[in-house]
Amino acid sequence: MANKWVYSFGDGKADGRADMKNLLGGKGAGLAEMTNLALPVPPGFTITTEVCTAFYANNRQYPSDLTGQVEEALHLIEKRIGKKFGDPKDPLLVSVRSGARASMPGMMDTVLNLGLNDNTVQGLIAKSGDARFAYDSYRRFIQMFSNVVLNVEHHNFEEVLEDHKRSKGLKQDTDLKAEDWQAVIADYKKTVQQHTGKPFPQDAKEQLWGAIAAVFGSWMNQRAITYRKLNNIPADWGTAVNVQSMVFGNMGQDCATGVAFTRNPSTGDNQFYGEYLVNAQGEDVVAGIRTPQHLTVAGKEANGSNLPAMEEVMPEVFKQLVAVRSKLEKHNRDMQDIEFTVEKGKLWMLQTRNGKRTARAALKIAVEMVQEGLITQTEAVARIDASSLDQLLHPTLDPKAKRNVVAKGLPASPGAASGQVVFSADKAEDLAAKGTPVILCRVETSPEDIHGMHAAKGIVTSRGGMTSHAAVVARGMGRACVAGAGSLHIDYAKETMTVGSTVIKAGDTITIDGGAGEVILGSVPTVKPELSGDFATIMGWADQYRRMRVRANAETPLDTRTARQFGAEGIGLCRTEHMFFDAERITAVREMIVADTEEGRRKALAKIEPMQKNDFVEIFKIMEGLPVTIRLLDPPLHEFLPKSDAEMAEVARVAGISVEKVKIRAQQLHEANPMLGHRGCRLAVTFPEICEMQARAIFEAASEVQKAGITVLPEVMIPLIITKKEFVMLKEVIDREAEKARLKTGQKVNYMVGTMIELPRAALMAGQIAESAEFFSFGTNDLTQTTLGISRDDAGNFMPDYIRTGIVDRDPFASLDQQGVGELIRIAGERGRHTRSNLKLGICGEHGGDPDSINFCESVRLDYVSCSPYRVPIARLAAAQAALRHQSLAAAKAAE
Ligand code: ADP
Ligand code: MG
Ligand code: MG
Repeated sequence: MANKWVYSFGDGKADGRADMKNLLGGKGAGLAEMTNLALPVPPGFTITTEVCTAFYANNRQYPSDLTGQVEEALHLIEKRIGKKFGDPKDPLLVSVRSGARASMPGMMDTVLNLGLNDNTVQGLIAKSGDARFAYDSYRRFIQMFSNVVLNVEHHNFEEVLEDHKRSKGLKQDTDLKAEDWQAVIADYKKTVQQHTGKPFPQDAKEQLWGAIAAVFGSWMNQRAITYRKLNNIPADWGTAVNVQSMVFGNMGQDCATGVAFTRNPSTGDNQFYGEYLVNAQGEDVVAGIRTPQHLTVAGKEANGSNLPAMEEVMPEVFKQLVAVRSKLEKHNRDMQDIEFTVEKGKLWMLQTRNGKRTARAALKIAVEMVQEGLITQTEAVARIDASSLDQLLHPTLDPKAKRNVVAKGLPASPGAASGQVVFSADKAEDLAAKGTPVILCRVETSPEDIHGMHAAKGIVTSRGGMTSHAAVVARGMGRACVAGAGSLHIDYAKETMTVGSTVIKAGDTITIDGGAGEVILGSVPTVKPELSGDFATIMGWADQYRRMRVRANAETPLDTRTARQFGAEGIGLCRTEHMFFDAERITAVREMIVADTEEGRRKALAKIEPMQKNDFVEIFKIMEGLPVTIRLLDPPLHEFLPKSDAEMAEVARVAGISVEKVKIRAQQLHEANPMLGHRGCRLAVTFPEICEMQARAIFEAASEVQKAGITVLPEVMIPLIITKKEFVMLKEVIDREAEKARLKTGQKVNYMVGTMIELPRAALMAGQIAESAEFFSFGTNDLTQTTLGISRDDAGNFMPDYIRTGIVDRDPFASLDQQGVGELIRIAGERGRHTRSNLKLGICGEHGGDPDSINFCESVRLDYVSCSPYRVPIARLAAAQAALRHQSLAAAKAAE
């Protein structure tokens, strides 16, 4: 059978279905689905994503049988509508719309009113009896088509239009009459001729194929490429093209166009939420040209708008829309983002898709949908994007702090952010790359600003509604956003933002509260987030399905407490060197290093020991019987060396030796490649007294806390092991100290001794190492560095090129290289467990907080993941999702 490249929909019948997203794209599948549900959808057809893939695979050529299938589908629309494409008496007009698998808002351009030309516009006038409408549609078409297909930039047309308005003293587009539009059209056509050297194409078929080619072409435009990169969307997915008969929201006062969310996308409240414009077409609502009005009276009141709601202006259509809302939500079992148009009092549905939402809204919607019986608990858990919880785990503005609010706008995307004011996306990117937090302030944003929005901590616009580009994109990215702060006058040329007599300059610090819609002068203190409400409910559900434990990487009492509050079930990595770097202790540490006798070292270590012991006492107390993995000293000695003259002098004084001697010692200890030098367990091999001191501090602290009636569970971890012999030697030192502590205090402490697996040799020798080690913790930062032979600290210079060229999908230091590094983890786990069946396995690298890496950890059956305290809730959810995924995979396998 020949390939089916084209899928039709209309009159309650569709070739496609909702579950054909990969083939039809999100928009095409949604249109087919709504048609099947008997909702009013203008007839049309979808050219599949396979055509896009074939087009790029085949040197930008279409499959040979595509033309015939498109012709046939076009005839079917003509039959359904009773109009003919290109007919000068009564023309069929269509929109040509892109639609990828994953929604890419604003990434690809839509052409409306296609099929209009100097002849067919007369037919439209005759049939509609409205010359003004017909010419307005034609000029919109010329502008969109010329921009998308012929690459004539919008501003050329905007200038023509402005000139006309000025010369006639008109303000709004709606003030222009038929003859005004006719004159605009004549000038638009001249503009096209000037820029392209050709007249505006009059042939409807030529227009159609031009638009189709432009949609496929736009898949590879810079905006689309950037968006895909930021969202990990593969380039070979391709986009579909939707060709759909036009309905008109710009035919008069009984016409409208709008967008809506079935629930509030910012808060998650179960309220219909949307905006519309009377007598308008397509993108007018989101373009910020006119201020959109609210759908509901409640929405209007909540936002302090005085423009009438659709509920008041078009009560009948509104009622139908409310029915569509519940039908679509029940059918899709998720919050929907819908687009509609009203033509002469009749409602038409143009799009539905799962709506983007903030993390807060996602949690609320999931919990409430379970309560409503719409979805199950496991679906609720599986549905939340674990990484998005990051939005809720950042500090928010202290409610008690004073706020100097200078402007108010819409609460477009919640969250608090402070930073320097910048007025361009490029500047935002530049400053952010230097580590400066910035707030991007724009009149409105467009897809060209995406990189700057990504770089900024927050976004302010002076124009646009809750569904404006800025609002939608900010919510998707989890950036705080205040949209449509109309009292701000932004002047790009002067780089100022003025409100009343206050002038805010580029570089000034402001704070925004995206949840309240406030723009505040200066920076405002923040408070720590909490796990409560819907967030806590979802976490509770997640914990029921989770197999892996979640621990935290923490060493200070503050971090340790935070970790517990967020539900950490132990410490997976307590780095003792952080305790060495402390200002009070560093001199003693340096004294130890410069000492050239064991006696000298012991004297210096004795100064550190009581402090180190106290640190452990604190941590054991906070963790109350939960396991605490303490890693012995790890970093290169090099890092502790005194550098400045003052530091040298201080060390010389304390150690009672000459400055000259300190300098010589520092030179001796200099290393060419410290990361592969004298560090980790190699320090303890050379200076066993360091290991001794640390072990003593651990066990004396543990005994003391245990004596006070609190259970302790220390797990002593030796870093950078490559041989079993090293491990055995150091374990003996540790065991000896444990025994001494028992004799001294009379307390028998249960403990384990294990190792980091962070070097390829250790992974390969895991079977032998496990003869002595009781647990492994995969140190994937070092394991990634040493497996790839790439320094994490230097990768920033070239890793972006690896990602850009597609050699790697993601930064291997952020998301585990599952193929390579993952293979070593798999081997080590298998070999280790083969030797010791109850060997405990965990991960404590940066990857322990990354959902994809956590999914991998489930697949190799690690016992726990450990991550930074603020990522613990993300890891809890990701671990639950991984367990659920693993279960359903196993069930599917069993069923085979
Ligand atoms: P995007 O992917 O950017 O949302 P769409 O393809 O959905 O682009 O088109 C944008 C807008 O154009 C729609 O929301 C709708 O208002 C208008 N539109 C698209 N197709 C039609 C049509 N057949 N009739 C009327 N309006 C349309
Ligand atoms: Mg749309
Ligand atoms: Mg390491």
